[in-house]
Amino acid sequence: MGCLFCKIAEKTLPAKIEYEDDRFSVFHDIHPKAPLHLLIIPKKHIQSVDHVAIEDKELMGELILVAQKVARAKNLRGYKLQINVGREAGQIVDHLHLHLLARPPDGQADI
Ligand code: AMP
Ligand code: ZN
Repeated sequence: MGCLFCKIAEKTLPAKIEYEDDRFSVFHDIHPKAPLHLLIIPKKHIQSVDHVAIEDKELMGELILVAQKVARAKNLRGYKLQINVGREAGQIVDHLHLHLLARPPDGQADI
């Protein structure tokens, strides 16, 4: 029991971690839907965008900056960001996460 992504953030559940700092963890999606499919999570447990409070506004801004940082580090030419909110929209893990999906940069076989 307990939250899957909290366990990944705490490293009690394994994941291929791409980046982390004191507030965020970035790891590879176990069922990638693109050549690069990362999940960016705040370490703070927030169920979904629908549960974000005003005190989380800085954290939510930083979530985008973490996506930018990882994308720049990987020299991505472009990428898609997606957040599913609620079961109706396909959210299956109840810990807020930003999907980052991308193809390899030109001339690169993988990422
Ligand atoms: P969502 O549908 O927006 O809730 O996305 C949840 C994502 O988490 C899906 O793309 C799953 O493939 C992914 N996922 C589920 N369990 C794990 C896990 N243990 N490690 C990495 N990704 C996972
Ligand atoms: Zn959690």
